[in-house]
Amino acid sequence: MFNSHLKNKISELDSQLEAFKKSIHILENENNRVHAILNSMVEGVVAVDKDTRVLWLNPTAEKIFNISESSTQGRIFLEVFPNNDIAEIIALVLKNGEVISQELSLIWPVQKIFQVNASAIFESKVTNGCLLVIHDITEMRRLETMRRDFVANVSHELKTPLTSIKGFVETLLEGALEDKENSVNFLKIINDHADRLNTLIDDLLDLSHIESKEVVLRKDKFSLAGLVDEVILGFKSQAKKKQIEVSSALPQGLEIIADKSKIEQVLVNLINNAIKYNKDKGFVRIYSGELTDKIKIIVEDSGSGISARDIPRIFERFYRVDKARSRELGGTGLGLSIVKHIIELHGGNVGVESTEGLGSKFWFILPG
Ligand code: ADP
Repeated sequence: MFNSHLKNKISELDSQLEAFKKSIHILENENNRVHAILNSMVEGVVAVDKDTRVLWLNPTAEKIFNISESSTQGRIFLEVFPNNDIAEIIALVLKNGEVISQELSLIWPVQKIFQVNASAIFESKVTNGCLLVIHDITEMRRLETMRRDFVANVSHELKTPLTSIKGFVETLLEGALEDKENSVNFLKIINDHADRLNTLIDDLLDLSHIESKEVVLRKDKFSLAGLVDEVILGFKSQAKKKQIEVSSALPQGLEIIADKSKIEQVLVNLINNAIKYNKDKGFVRIYSGELTDKIKIIVEDSGSGISARDIPRIFERFYRVDKARSRELGGTGLGLSIVKHIIELHGGNVGVESTEGLGSKFWFILPG
């Protein structure tokens, strides 16, 4: 009797143990799943207790704050990461139990912009900690600023010639038309500004086409030396006006597989600049450099050169060392960014070496 009671008890305990094991297994699985999600999140996640001691942080948070989880556990948040703005958010959440969403700029350890979402961790309806979800929005903000600058630049570039055109047309309408000689001059100026608008819009269309994901490269095998000779021929009269000697030392057998019309555009832009920003009686030399498995083309000129301060920005859209001079020479400030995009589309890269007052060597490298 006693024995059977004991047996029943044991089997009851056995099944309870089984149920416990199952629950532990389910909880373990659940825990693993939550950890896997938190570990793979692109947002940084930090949990602190009611005394702001760090309970846990995921790998993204480790990266953002440049700290390791093991060195932070149990330590006060502000001690681990001395940022008053975040500490204030945590304090408010712990005090009021509310959700706070705020954009913060950090200058340490690196300059970054974060969207911080903080919410309370409740235990039996009492605030017992705070959970921070930190999203790095630096790149998003950078792109927004770039887009805003681009729109402002384009509007400004379009407005300048349009204002001039309108001014001269108004002068003509107000009576200058009677003055034959002056009116022809005015019409010539209007025509120049209309040409400028045309060039600008062509460059903008080229750039937006090259930047769009749909651009397809029509690659063919062709002689680079032959193409360079053709391009040089096109600049003959422009070079002659300034008595600039343009020469190519590319080996005739140099063939590449690339989009010929796009590489032609690269050469046109580089050689055009090399002549435009050159002195009278200067030179432009095009030659290739020694590289294994790659082709390096250099366009060297004896022009004004570019200061070390301007070099890092020279390939940016609308960046010009001397705006007035570039405009006077018919520039749009887009030529080099078009060059950069085309070469990068081909899997290559571009650069420049320059000494102010002595000249520049613009180069591009294409995979062989
Ligand atoms: P732009 O239409 O003004 O020539 P680019 O994008 O082709 O525009 O060039 C940007 C700026 O870089 C130019 O305004 C000029 O200041 C500078 N630059 C480009 N090429 C040269 C060069 N070969 N020598 C000196 N300065 C140059």
